[in-house]
Amino acid sequence: MVTLKEVYDAVDSFYPFALQEPWDNSGVQIGFQAQTVSKIALSVDVTPGIIKECKSNNVDLLISHHPSFFRATASISEATPQGILAGCLTGMLTESRLMHISCHTSADKARYGVADVFIELLGLDQAMPIIPEPHDGTLGIGRIGNLENATTLLQLAHTLKSIIPETSRPLLVAGDARRTVQRVAILPGAGDSEFTAVRRANADVYITSDLRHHPALDQLTLNYTPEVNGDLALIDVPHSAVESVFLRKFELLLEDRVKGVEILNLSDVNTDPWNFAV
Ligand SMILES: [Zn+2]
Repeated sequence: MVTLKEVYDAVDSFYPFALQEPWDNSGVQIGFQAQTVSKIALSVDVTPGIIKECKSNNVDLLISHHPSFFRATASISEATPQGILAGCLTGMLTESRLMHISCHTSADKARYGVADVFIELLGLDQAMPIIPEPHDGTLGIGRIGNLENATTLLQLAHTLKSIIPETSRPLLVAGDARRTVQRVAILPGAGDSEFTAVRRANADVYITSDLRHHPALDQLTLNYTPEVNGDLALIDVPHSAVESVFLRKFELLLEDRVKGVEILNLSDVNTDPWNFAV
């Protein structure tokens, strides 16, 4: 058995909380430093379903990628989704004594983090962050690198599909299926704010989540003048599914640094909101 502080310090050693964006809220969400932990669960999201899963498995500490306290809520009531979640979270501390830590943009940027694990999984050579940190260029948002052997856009989409957990929402691809791709940029999570950096880094394909109609269409329009703007293909991957992949690495790192606790990886609990497609 260890304390919440000991787990926090262990996580901080590989996903430093200081890396988080100023708007983020990674760190302890619920709990007191001296509380003891014997069972940890790992997840991408915090949902009523995940909280139920923790309770039925006697988990003391949930460590999720997305924070539970992110948008302000004025009441703990059923009036808003934030209010309902706040009700579940209040019960976490008072009834089940369940603690909570979030590793959000800190894990996005870190070595072995949410994006970094794809360097090895996709086999990207000389990979670097899409948006490097000012103090350390090896850390930062997203990763971009070269496949050892160029492949087709279709084959890359299939490879990616085989890496992420199964979801009912398919991967969506924009670009000629037969075109060759070698320079791959990946930003798990909502990445439509980073198109400029991705194009500047000469990516052939950008893998990210939650691409909306107009920003995606704009990118295809830029492809009309490839001699100026390059020719960027897009792959939209389900948000939680692609972000859950790093939990396997997270589990190994935790096992190595925190002894005497049980770890439950909830990456097979799919929290992407879409549960069927027609
Ligand atoms: Zn996310």
